[in-house]
Amino acid sequence: LAQLFRPLDLLGMVYRTVKQGAIDMGAMFDLIDTPAEVQDAPGAAPLQVSSGQVRFEDVRFAYDPDREILKGIDLDIPAGATVAVVGPSGAGKSTLARILYRFYDLTGGRVTIDGQDIAAVTQTSLRAAIGIVPQDTVLFNETIGYNIAYGREGASEDDIAAAARGAAIAPFIQALPDGFDTRVGERGLKLSGGEKQRVAIARTLVKDPPILILDEATSALDSRTEAEIQATLETIEQGRTTIVIAHRLSTIVHADRIVVLEAGRIAEQGTHAELLRAGKLYAEMWARQAAEQDAALAAE
Ligand code: ADP
Ligand code: MG
Repeated sequence: LAQLFRPLDLLGMVYRTVKQGAIDMGAMFDLIDTPAEVQDAPGAAPLQVSSGQVRFEDVRFAYDPDREILKGIDLDIPAGATVAVVGPSGAGKSTLARILYRFYDLTGGRVTIDGQDIAAVTQTSLRAAIGIVPQDTVLFNETIGYNIAYGREGASEDDIAAAARGAAIAPFIQALPDGFDTRVGERGLKLSGGEKQRVAIARTLVKDPPILILDEATSALDSRTEAEIQATLETIEQGRTTIVIAHRLSTIVHADRIVVLEAGRIAEQGTHAELLRAGKLYAEMWARQAAEQDAALAAE
């Protein structure tokens, strides 16, 4: 019986997601797996972001009751800081990001933004405060201007042009036959992975959120494009509280703090230099990636 109802649930979910303007989350949150929506608490007030401090307090979470994924996460992200989350695949990194966006409710603990429990504020206000650059950006079959403006309702042409400059995609767009009116997506001009990520960055700049999540935002790109996008990302991290989830450690060396997540627990945290000195999990991951990089260079 449960299976019979699933397709209907899914349709309802997709509809609500579109309505809430969260469809670009699809790539990150894997729509098919997204469960019953969370509800606004009765009398929920809008989130008031003052400085953008994010705090996870003994956060526990399970998708299935018999398998806990986050096993008591304590994490304090100071306003404006960049915290990187690294660790093996399946450790719970993306889950941590989904929790902050409140795609799911917790099974224990709480998450606060500037002291307000995210479960007690309206979802609309919470999601307006958070920008996400996912691993793979989904574009609409629309103009490139529309795709950038999608970050915020009522964005002006000037806002869109400024965002395109900030994301270093303005020269590319100017060279297109119809400029910002050029259709992109499946039925339009196909953009490369790097170009799509720049559209996602521009979208985020239009939204101008105080809190930013980059979930493996560059991991689908070749290393040269990654390096180009990386520089742009580091500029948009300025003045925002940022969580960077990264596979390639070379992209998070600059973080104020690096958190190593392993099987739903924080195994260690510190700066890049501190973690290298500690000689544990992070140092091992770093050494392994350096060796892989050397091997790749030698093979070129
Ligand atoms: P990471 O981003 O660190 O690779 P995730 O947060 O995506 O890890 O996943 C952590 C664990 O939760 C994995 O074991 C994964 O299989 C499981 N998981 C992720 N999403 C779902 C879901 N929608 N339903 C059930 N289990 C899930
Ligand atoms: Mg992930």
